[in-house]
Amino acid sequence: MGGGPGGLTAGLYAARARLDTLLIDKGAAGGQVLRTDWIDNYPGFPDGISGFELADKMIAQARRFGLQPTLGEVVSMELRGETKKLYLADNKHLKAKTVIIATGASPNKLNVPGEAELTGKGVSYCATCDGPFYRDMDVAVVGGGNTAVQEAVYLTKFVKTVTIIHRRDELRAAPIIQEAAFQNKQVSFICESEVVGIEGTTEVTGVRIKHANGEEEFKPFQGVFVLVGVSPNNWMLPKELALDNGFITTDGMMRSNISGVMAVGDIRADSIRQVISAAGDGAVAEKTAEQYLEHLQQNMRIVMERKKCSSK
Ligand SMILES: Cc1cc2nc3c(=O)[nH]c(=O)nc-3n(C[C@H](O)[C@H](O)[C@H](O)COP(=O)(O)OP(=O)(O)OC[C@H]3O[C@@H](n4cnc5c(N)ncnc54)[C@H](O)[C@@H]3O)c2cc1C
Repeated sequence: MGGGPGGLTAGLYAARARLDTLLIDKGAAGGQVLRTDWIDNYPGFPDGISGFELADKMIAQARRFGLQPTLGEVVSMELRGETKKLYLADNKHLKAKTVIIATGASPNKLNVPGEAELTGKGVSYCATCDGPFYRDMDVAVVGGGNTAVQEAVYLTKFVKTVTIIHRRDELRAAPIIQEAAFQNKQVSFICESEVVGIEGTTEVTGVRIKHANGEEEFKPFQGVFVLVGVSPNNWMLPKELALDNGFITTDGMMRSNISGVMAVGDIRADSIRQVISAAGDGAVAEKTAEQYLEHLQQNMRIVMERKKCSSK
């Protein structure tokens, strides 16, 4: 369920293993990759690849083994017991013996003027993904939590300067993460200030900031990293599924707390939220699903044998 890199990889492995597999997505398969201009860190593409092309290649590869991505929005689920039920927005429902949840996550937005228009043109939600594109430039990081401060320090490997812009008077990041930022000469801070607009026409030229005293000013930047958290796409999940901060907890084999239900990619707690990790999770989860189905079959055989014996 979910046709991003996690779901597509699980689907590819399952179809190749000749399991009766359905991949369901509420939109076009490809997930967040479809919204990513350029991917530079997925192995096998030495010059990088556009998000659209990578998604297209993943879909084509999965189709080669017979996987058919199907359009449908899952609105609720019953996951306990041997038969899992997925209820769809069009009032239909699907039954499955095992379910791999790959519904992903979405980066939180600032929802300010210019943000949507300049996404991919200087506005980014992922420092690991896009940092190297900003070599020797001046960039802003919006946010004050662990991810924002950690990623700001990471960005200094590439950029000239990083300015952390934070709404409150104190950062929320753990003290050890803050220390690393304070000690780094390339990092500076603008606190008690909000980004109220991102400026530029074909690319980012800077941000408009509103300070606590109500004054507004323009600060020039070539890149703006919005790192104000990520929200899991979890609203359709049943209450009995164990979550951590809204993300599904799994063991190393991608098993959730419910037998026969796995979770992969960005929806999974502890995910590093990259294409490669989602794909890796997908491969592991499919193997776990195969083992689970074999186990079910074995149990079934034992029950049949017992029935035969008792009827003798
Ligand atoms: C702007 C941006 C740039 C990025 N750049 C890079 C990069 O350069 N390199 C990199 O490695 N990673 C990058 N990432 C991260 C990467 O895209 C994600 O880590 C990856 O796509 C996660 O894959 P996934 O399969 O877990 O989920 P997603 O890609 O989020 O896919 C989830 C799918 O589930 C579907 N879905 C959700 N809810 C339902 C439902 N109720 N019913 C049916 N379907 C549903 C969605 O439609 C979606 O297709 C970037 C992310 C963003 C936002």
